[in-house]
Amino acid sequence: MPGNSDLFSWLDTCPTPYHVAQMAGQVLADNGFTRATHLAADLPANGYLIRHGSIHAWRQAERESEEFVIIGAHTDSPNLRVKPHPDIHRFGWQQLSVEIYGGVLLNSWLDRDLGIAGRVIYVDGRTEMFCVDEALARIPQLAIHLDRDVNDKGLVLDRHQHLVPVWGTSQKLSFADWLASQVNCDPSDVLGFDAQLFDIAKATHLGVDNSLIVSGRLDNQVSCWAGITALVQSQAQETKTVVVSLFDHEETGSQSANGAAGPALEHLLEALSQAQGASRIQHYDRLAASLCVSADNAHAVHPNYPERHDAQHAPVVNCGPVVKINSNQRYATSNIGHALVKEIARQAGIALQVFASRNNMPCGSTIGPITATRLGVETVDIGVPQLSMHSARELCGANDPSELVRLINALIDA
Ligand code: ZN
Repeated sequence: MPGNSDLFSWLDTCPTPYHVAQMAGQVLADNGFTRATHLAADLPANGYLIRHGSIHAWRQAERESEEFVIIGAHTDSPNLRVKPHPDIHRFGWQQLSVEIYGGVLLNSWLDRDLGIAGRVIYVDGRTEMFCVDEALARIPQLAIHLDRDVNDKGLVLDRHQHLVPVWGTSQKLSFADWLASQVNCDPSDVLGFDAQLFDIAKATHLGVDNSLIVSGRLDNQVSCWAGITALVQSQAQETKTVVVSLFDHEETGSQSANGAAGPALEHLLEALSQAQGASRIQHYDRLAASLCVSADNAHAVHPNYPERHDAQHAPVVNCGPVVKINSNQRYATSNIGHALVKEIARQAGIALQVFASRNNMPCGSTIGPITATRLGVETVDIGVPQLSMHSARELCGANDPSELVRLINALIDA
């Protein structure tokens, strides 16, 4: 079994998209990539640009670039986020008002020890990230004695009423005071904040044979980690510029300034072409010759719910990355792209699986169709198979993440 220690420390260090962007930036900086603060004519050959919870990194071609290989993934995961006026006091409890971000599997957040992380914005415009990796809050489940039918009729949670965490009983400290104390400043200096709850349990191997990984945020930090790992391992290509874009806000549909539907990647690709002296027409021509690999986790077949998969297209954990196919363009993989990935994986000796959903069951989506629509680039949707997607604690195979790195490397080198 692979060690996965790099992946584990990434997952444990990154409770929010801001932390993912920072972590990716750190790995890139450690491997000789230069941070750019804005788009400019003199972008570094190997560089990266952080935009809040998103990061874009690139390795320019050695000679004049003729195409891009773009690896896309998302930095955000469904979670609970502290509202601007969060303090609630009732029945002796201190509670926090939270907002549900993305498609949270609500029951998975019950009875977990939760930490709080995010960033603050100061009066002078500076931002600072914070992470309090301690048992601060918890959403207590109702005792079975007060809900006798719960096991037979199922747990029904009201999204507003039943997901309010408790975080103390002293009634003295406001959230604003607590936050200021965590970043060592006066509460009046904090003008705004984004504070996100997370399960403080660490990433770990699981199983009698250690063949599985459990952690929060496997969707989609496994792909973020794999994309950045492959990029720093890659060599400069002769005529191919490699770009890794990790976007925020995928879990809410990508429609934001820093999401995949925003203009950041498009602007960066144009800047990279211009830095090499390409005309606008040449740039469009490059896009038409390019490949985008949209990496996001896939649904493994669940042994207790096998009927939820199409038996012929049911990925199994530890059997390699999955190509996701959907004719209705929920996934962007074309038949050309599928054929290309199949052949490259075959040559590299990487096992590949295919997912297509049942016709009576909707499937998820990814940034793939969005970037394909914006850029007109041939796109393939791939990812490692997992269970419990969007749970506070997800499960995947221990072998698959490193196989995803190998596949991305093979696609870069092809
Ligand atoms: Zn995802």
